[in-house]
Amino acid sequence: MRTAVFSTKPYDRQFLTEANRAGAHELAFFEARLDEATARLADGFEAVCVFVNDRLDATVLDVLGAGGVRVVALRCAGFNNVDLAAAAERGIDVVRVPAYSPHAVAEFTVGMLLALDRNIPRAWARVRENNYALDGLIGRNLHGRRVGVIGTGKIGAIVARILKLGFGCEVVASDPFENPEITALGIPYLSRDSVMEGSDVITLHCPLTPDTRHLIDARAIAAARPGFFLVNTSRGALVDTTALIAGLKSRMVGGVALDVYEQEENLFFEDLSNEIVEDDVFQRLLTFPNVIVTGHQAFLTEEALANIAETTLANLDDVAAGRPLANTVTATRLAGASMS
Ligand code: NAD
Repeated sequence: MRTAVFSTKPYDRQFLTEANRAGAHELAFFEARLDEATARLADGFEAVCVFVNDRLDATVLDVLGAGGVRVVALRCAGFNNVDLAAAAERGIDVVRVPAYSPHAVAEFTVGMLLALDRNIPRAWARVRENNYALDGLIGRNLHGRRVGVIGTGKIGAIVARILKLGFGCEVVASDPFENPEITALGIPYLSRDSVMEGSDVITLHCPLTPDTRHLIDARAIAAARPGFFLVNTSRGALVDTTALIAGLKSRMVGGVALDVYEQEENLFFEDLSNEIVEDDVFQRLLTFPNVIVTGHQAFLTEEALANIAETTLANLDDVAAGRPLANTVTATRLAGASMS
C-alpha cells in the first residue's frame, strides 16, 4: 500500500523503515504536518500515516479522499484530531495503535511526578552552575500521599499500581468504567469531584472527549485540595491552561508537570530555539518555579516506537488484504465512553 507518512521525524523514519524491512510497503516520508495546506501531498497515495498533531478535519479529509486516500493510519492511541464522522462519510477507514506501550507513558508520568516533587530539574540546573545550595529544593515524600488517578485504562492502571505498590501512596480513582485490576489492588472508585477534593496529587489518564475537555478548570481547581500537584501526560485540552495559571498564582495549585499542552500543535516536536514564541499563555506557564513541561515525549521509548511501527504496518496490511480491522476507530466508538 502506498502510504504518505506525515509529521515524520528521524525516529519515525528509522523505526518504520526497520518494520518494513521486507519492503512490502511503499512509504513516502514527509516532514510536514498534515493540514489543509499540505493535504495535496497525499494525492495518489492510498493511505496516510499521521500523528497526534496532524489535523484531519472534514476539509482535509475531502482533499485526501479526492486524491485517492482510503485509509488513515494513526501512529498513536488518541484520535481526537480526526473527524471520525466525516471520515466515515467519505469511506475512509481510520486505524490506530491502541496500546503500543502503556508502560512507557506510565513510567514517564511517575518520573515527572518525582522530578516535580523533588525539584530534580532545578537541582540539576544549579549543580551545572556549581551551585550546591539546597534552599528552595525541599520536597515531600510520595509515600503516604493521596493520589487521584482520573482514567484507569491501560496507562492509568499501571500508574496506579506503581504508585500504590512501589511508593506506598494512598491511591483513589475515577472512571465511568471500573477496571478490575484497580479494584483488585484495593483502590476505591470515587466520583471525579471527590477525587479532586481529597487528593494531594491528580494525574490525568483519560482521553480527550467533549466530556473531558477542560476537566481541570477554574471550578475544579477551586474545589481541589489547596496546594495539590497536577500531572498531565494525557491530552493538553483536559486542562484549561488559563485557569491553571490563575490557580498557580493563587497558590491553590502547588505544582504542575505537563507532557501535553492544549495549543501544543504550534510548538511541540519542533526546534524553536531560534524563534520568537508568540503563545503568551505557554510562556507564562514556563515562568513558574513549580511547573515542569516536556514536549509530548512520554511515549518515546525504543519499545514503543518499534511497537507503533509494527502495528501501523500490520493495520495497513489488514486494509490492503480486506481483512477485518482489529484497530479501527469509528464515530460510534467515540460515543462509547471507554474508547480503548
Ligand atoms: P485507555 O482507553 O486504555 O483508558 C482511558 C480510560 O479513560 C478508560 O478507562 C476510560 O473509561 C476512561 N475515561 C473516559 N472518560 C473518562 C472520564 N470522563 N473520566 C474519567 N475517566 C474517563 O487509554 P490509555 O491507553 O490508558 O491512554 C490514556 C490517554 O493517554 C490517551 O487517551 C492519550 O490521550 C494519552 N496518551 C498520551 C501519550 C503521551 O505520549 N503523552 C501517549 C499515549 C497516550
